[in-house]
Amino acid sequence: MVLCISPSPVIRICRSAIHEGYQACLLGFVLLISGCTQGPTDQRQTLYVFGTLLEIHAYTDDASVFRDAVAELELMFAQMHKDWHAWDGEGELVRLNRALAQSESFEASEALQVLLIQGRDYSEQSEGLFNPALGRLIALWGFHSDLPPGGPPPTAQAIRELVAAAPEMHALNFEGRWLSSANPTVQLDLGAYAKGVALNMAIDKLRSAGIQHAIVNAGGDLCVAGRHGDRPWRVGVRHPQGEGVIASLEAVDGECVLTSGNYERYREFDGIRYAHILDPRSGYPVEHVASVTVIARNGGLADAAATALSVAGPQAWERIAGRMQVDQVMLVDEGGQVHLTPAMQARIHFETEIAEIHVAE
Ligand code: ADP
Ligand code: MG
Repeated sequence: MVLCISPSPVIRICRSAIHEGYQACLLGFVLLISGCTQGPTDQRQTLYVFGTLLEIHAYTDDASVFRDAVAELELMFAQMHKDWHAWDGEGELVRLNRALAQSESFEASEALQVLLIQGRDYSEQSEGLFNPALGRLIALWGFHSDLPPGGPPPTAQAIRELVAAAPEMHALNFEGRWLSSANPTVQLDLGAYAKGVALNMAIDKLRSAGIQHAIVNAGGDLCVAGRHGDRPWRVGVRHPQGEGVIASLEAVDGECVLTSGNYERYREFDGIRYAHILDPRSGYPVEHVASVTVIARNGGLADAAATALSVAGPQAWERIAGRMQVDQVMLVDEGGQVHLTPAMQARIHFETEIAEIHVAE
């Protein structure tokens, strides 16, 4: 009830009562009190976007503001899905990819240009381990499909040829909004960081609609605003090798928690699993990592870094994390050992027994 937000309506109603009689004042006061007893409550809504369920959970006293904000978010996500999808439909990215394959220039929207410049920077910082120009390789592995691909993996020769063609972000040429590529094998796939960007944008939109306390969660990838009443939002990180939650933590205002999991999407043939995170150097799926979780205020960076560190693996993740300037990282390797930065160790709470924990220097 809007009247609860400030005590001033009480004063207004009671002042006007001088003219209209005491009854109106009392009635107004009773109405206010009955409305105020409720206070903020949990409001939840689930949307289906980017091929996943997205839960918006707000702690607010205005259900109608929440409903309207969710309706706006739904429109925003539908637009992003259309514009940023790498293979489905006739959206902006599909048209850009077609132009690049034909060595033509393409005039991108400002939003896409900004996103791609970000992607190019993250790619450079990660020494190319995060590489959103890998679209062709991702399609070759069959991951440009909503369903898990079947059948045998691509041939070693096809993989070798694509890796040798070196589709990389620095081949993209930006002349203002006009994009072109000297390398026609560059095909953009934003799957490793667009979700983080979108979660950040969703929180911004909720805040500007007046919702200060919320969590937007897409299958365990999330960003938060504010807190849940008198306590911070508490979130769980899914166990990459078992059921339930491996760890939990308190996420504070403006933070995003992004996890790249090799368990998320994969193809299976002859008892071998081929996961959807690819190592741009070999062209093959990442093997030594089960999941990487990164916490940062920038959701796009956290998402890109989680992917890059999955590729970097237990040996090189610390160096790449340093270069990408993310200091809150948890890597679970294929043997179930957990690797942490000191900043992550300081705040994470394990919910299951962990065989070995390594904390970086
Ligand atoms: P999740 O979907 O589990 O959150 P990611 O954020 O790591 O995982 O995104 C994986 C997706 O990113 C893949 O499905 C593919 O579209 C794309 N991708 C795979 N390998 C790479 C890579 N090395 N660099 C950039 N994008 C990648
Ligand atoms: Mg990612």
